[in-house]
Amino acid sequence: METTMLIKGGLVVGENTETPGDVYIRGERIVAVGKDLPADKGAKIIEAQGKILIPGGIDVHTHLDLDVGFTRASDDFYTGTVAAALGGTTAIVDHPGFGPAGCALDHQIKTYHRLAAGKAVIDYGFHGVIQQVDPGILEQMAVLAEEGITSYKVYLTYDYKLSDGDVYQVLEQAQKQGLMIAVHPENDGVIGYLRSRFVKEGKTAARYHPLSRPAAAEAEAINRMLLLANMAGDAPLYIVHLSNKQGLTFIQDARKRGQPHLYAETCPQYLLLDDRMYEQPGYEGLKYLMCPPLRKPEDRAGLWEGLAADIDTVATDHCPFFFETQKIRGKDDFTQCPSGAPGIEERIPLLFSEGVMQQRISLRRFVDLCSTNPAKLFGMYPQKGVIREGSDADIVIIDPEVKKVLTQRTLHARVDYSAYEGWEVQGYPTWVISRGEVIVREGIFAANPGRGRFIPRKRMQALR
Ligand code: MN
Repeated sequence: METTMLIKGGLVVGENTETPGDVYIRGERIVAVGKDLPADKGAKIIEAQGKILIPGGIDVHTHLDLDVGFTRASDDFYTGTVAAALGGTTAIVDHPGFGPAGCALDHQIKTYHRLAAGKAVIDYGFHGVIQQVDPGILEQMAVLAEEGITSYKVYLTYDYKLSDGDVYQVLEQAQKQGLMIAVHPENDGVIGYLRSRFVKEGKTAARYHPLSRPAAAEAEAINRMLLLANMAGDAPLYIVHLSNKQGLTFIQDARKRGQPHLYAETCPQYLLLDDRMYEQPGYEGLKYLMCPPLRKPEDRAGLWEGLAADIDTVATDHCPFFFETQKIRGKDDFTQCPSGAPGIEERIPLLFSEGVMQQRISLRRFVDLCSTNPAKLFGMYPQKGVIREGSDADIVIIDPEVKKVLTQRTLHARVDYSAYEGWEVQGYPTWVISRGEVIVREGIFAANPGRGRFIPRKRMQALR
């Protein structure tokens, strides 16, 4: 017999409502939401008075078990998803690394199915990665979409950067097929030149990293991408890890000109940290070496303003490397440091505390940014991203009274530092339910490796 569970008396954040009520779960699904719901005999009861019930967090930008050639991201699909769960995230969509040169489009998807199977503790999907363009690759985009891969990543920098002509063909195909194109936008030519110039001049400390990747180099690439998407007939375009204010202005202008299918993601690090982190003594700055780099306080302020309406999602770009053994590779030359930082567990607590509790964003907007919009944009809605009858019972109970200090000692990613060490948060996810199973109970994780399932994603749903 299917188990039943009644979560009683919490503030339920619904699609258009925030009302005290109950959520009734049978098996893996929500079967009722309402006031004073009767419980079956034998139903498990969770008392949630004074707590907030949100749909499980969805992080659509992670890099678990990422192979960067000379090293590997330190979290695999077990440790990374355990950390995610403890931070109130019940689904991820991972961005695979590059495969061997010339590989088929499904090469990395097959690889990632192997990496995740038997390990993930929450549900997961994969974006595809496009590292070269030919008619076969374009055709495969449509084929893989039927297997649940309905979004693709293109890079404008790194080894497998695409030319504008290649990007244009991908966008045309995406427009035809209703697929989402996620882009890492940075101007490769400028960055390549600045990096090699700094190294030649002996400017190899971490503080040169942000100078080698200027905000305008990101903004230029964003503008180029959105114009290419416009040329391709308003192809669905998703800007990942937006870090600067100028890029946001370009996005706002394009929408005003009539390009609605343009979406933007930012990450907690770009909202809460800035380039002063690179000025710390010793090699501390390497902990924050990521691409794009942390920007100026003005950029942070601009992004916070953008969260009200123009930025659609908050994801993490979680890509952890041990400071002592991996990041330290950059101690004499920042260009040798693996790029990325942990953050999968801190996302929901930070955005709830800094956003909702500090009254910068509403509770509803917080849920849109962290769960509902990611679900819609990446083809998981309404199975996920919403507390409603028929949806997966992915529910996070946040206790707004809990105060916590974020520290690597009590966080769970397999890594030796937190980018938010010592940060105080008000409010924390205390219970996490994934498809009807309690996987975090009063802050303690208890579930089996491999219980997470692949999410065959449908096509995107437009937000505007
Ligand atoms: Mn990334």
